[in-house]
Amino acid sequence: MNFVCASSTMNSATIERVETCLVDLPTIRPHRLSVATMHGQTLMLVRIYCSDGIVGIGEGTTIAGMAYGPESPEAMKLAIDTYFAPAIICKDATRIQELMAHLGKLIKVNHFSKSALESALLDAQGKRLGVPVSELLGGRRRERLPIAWTLASGNTAKDMAEAEEMLELRRHKIFKLKIGAKDIHADINHVADIKKAVGDRAAVRVDVNMAWSEVQASWAIPALADAGCELVEQPVASAAALARLMRRFPVALMADEILQGPESAFEIAKNNGADVFAIKIEQSGGLFAAQRVAAIADSAGIELYGGTMLEGAFSTAASAHLFSTFANLQWGTELFGPLLITEEILKAPLDYSDFELAVPDGPGLGIELDDQKVKRFTRDGLIKITK
Ligand SMILES: [Mg+2]
Repeated sequence: MNFVCASSTMNSATIERVETCLVDLPTIRPHRLSVATMHGQTLMLVRIYCSDGIVGIGEGTTIAGMAYGPESPEAMKLAIDTYFAPAIICKDATRIQELMAHLGKLIKVNHFSKSALESALLDAQGKRLGVPVSELLGGRRRERLPIAWTLASGNTAKDMAEAEEMLELRRHKIFKLKIGAKDIHADINHVADIKKAVGDRAAVRVDVNMAWSEVQASWAIPALADAGCELVEQPVASAAALARLMRRFPVALMADEILQGPESAFEIAKNNGADVFAIKIEQSGGLFAAQRVAAIADSAGIELYGGTMLEGAFSTAASAHLFSTFANLQWGTELFGPLLITEEILKAPLDYSDFELAVPDGPGLGIELDDQKVKRFTRDGLIKITK
């Protein structure tokens, strides 16, 4: 849907039009999580057209539709077209914090939509000023980010082969195993077999995606530690249960799903509820909100990990710009989303090499969409017709 600014002023950077689209892309293999199995990924792309000719692009993407959280790509498109876009048309595109505060007052939660819009505004502002988004956020402290890979084929032998391939390619040496969908004994054996196979060549971590009860977690986590697993991500659903599991095992516990922006970060920190935060720009409600989550973690002595919603190139690049500015990033990142998708949607792909991602250094997000390529995968309307 197009919104045309009827009262464009002489200001050189007002928002004239906001466009959204849904892009359905295939994944390289089924991605099995405790909550769902993904066969493809849908990106909600938002373009913000400004009166100075600059166009900013942002992305909103979820893990497995609505299996992970309350927003879906379709809901984001609808929310932006109907509520967010009319609220920012004709406003000054350069006043990003003010615009986001305005939207925050008008629209509750909708963190993913807010992150997509804020990323697009930052992309536009960076292009306008000729600087990377990282420089708008205070300046990058690192040019490259370590990238973990998620093994989630659902099969131990396939995961082992995939791990070997990633080590061989020098793409990843940190592996996160998705567990929680199967019997706990089977999951523990799965983790132990993979750690045994990779040995000291790679780190092994697990993400349970809230699948276990507190009782199950309290006997499974020591077994995972014995198997050589160094980090357990969101083993249980509630913040209270995670806090009760803290410091009982020789392994770090990470909060992900319960971390829903700065207020939740503060609550978790106050209750000594996690060793590590998986920071995600979408879940936090945007890059500035994620910055505040990081500040809370640093102040509380909680370590940091750069998380992903299995996003495509745009939200991955936005995350990379932000994570590059963090004072601490003790556990690296998992910004591998674009590598899970079969299609390259950029004119020049992101640089994944030597177990790391190079933070783009061009203006804005520093990446360029291949419009022709994306057109082929763009959905006509809101509803996906599946056979
Ligand atoms: Mg997770």
